[in-house]
Amino acid sequence: MLLSVKDLCVKYVTFEGIVHAVNGVSFDIPERGTLGLVGESGAGKTTTALSLMRLIPVPPGIVERGKISFEGRDLDALSGEEMKKIRGNRISMIFQDPMTSLNPVLTVGLQIAETIAAHQNMSEREAMKKAREMLEKVQIPAARYKEYPHEFSGGMRQRVGIAMALACNPRMIIADEPTTALDVTIQAQVIELMRDLRDEFSTAMMLITHDLGVVGEVCDRVAVMYAGEIVEEGSLEQIFEHARHPYTNGLFRCIPDIDEDNSRIQPISGLMPDPCDLPAGCCFHPRCPECMEICRTRKPAPFTENGQMVRCCLYTRGGAGQ
Ligand code: SF4
Repeated sequence: MLLSVKDLCVKYVTFEGIVHAVNGVSFDIPERGTLGLVGESGAGKTTTALSLMRLIPVPPGIVERGKISFEGRDLDALSGEEMKKIRGNRISMIFQDPMTSLNPVLTVGLQIAETIAAHQNMSEREAMKKAREMLEKVQIPAARYKEYPHEFSGGMRQRVGIAMALACNPRMIIADEPTTALDVTIQAQVIELMRDLRDEFSTAMMLITHDLGVVGEVCDRVAVMYAGEIVEEGSLEQIFEHARHPYTNGLFRCIPDIDEDNSRIQPISGLMPDPCDLPAGCCFHPRCPECMEICRTRKPAPFTENGQMVRCCLYTRGGAGQ
């Protein structure tokens, strides 16, 4: 297994209280696998990704427990220097807004070349040549090498971000809402580009998004996060054709369907719970249309069948689904 995360728990200690951001998350990503991590804002998706890169700010963040192994190595046991060699080289990240991740006072070519020079045993000239090649790979003319981020459109900047992420041929890319800041037509182009380059570079990917449409285009497995937990996980087909968790089904009901004679989408009622004060029992119970008495007090245990995991009392012993 390329990446294995076991029982990851991350919290933030703030003046308002302890934010329970990630509460016992486990998942695996094999070589060349693509996992979509889906959920509303505040579900803990980005904190999970930052934990993998060991980028949780301490304080206020605390990685309470959990084991992350990548290429067979326990990331927690690595020194800061060893981790630097992995970050941007073996695992790299594409951020939501490239304008904030790119340096505004350096040309895009120089920024890509710096990433390459930091990790690969190359001369400056070779790194610059590779940076030009990477720009061409993401369909930006190499002649724009000397331009600054503000001279590019939003979609082009995200392409630069993708070129930087792939420049060292990483084994895994974490893409955190890579298309959210783009308009719809550019989103489609960027998704297609990411998919093509992932296949060309044989890179595994963790795609963080709240957009199930994007997941359907790119991923082969899907994990649905709610209030810091993975509440359902399965193959793309299992989640899209046979979703079990009421939250997953609620997310699908929020997507407009042009084949349905239904002009209104059905949003999930209520809001994500306060992570400083999570409800007892199933965290989704205040919003769940299928809530039972037991859900208010008992935390649902994971139930796995044919590789599809769900955390819901409907499917565990004693629930109505039995
Ligand atoms: Fe709904 Fe109960 Fe299942 Fe939670 S455990 S999702 S409240 S049915």
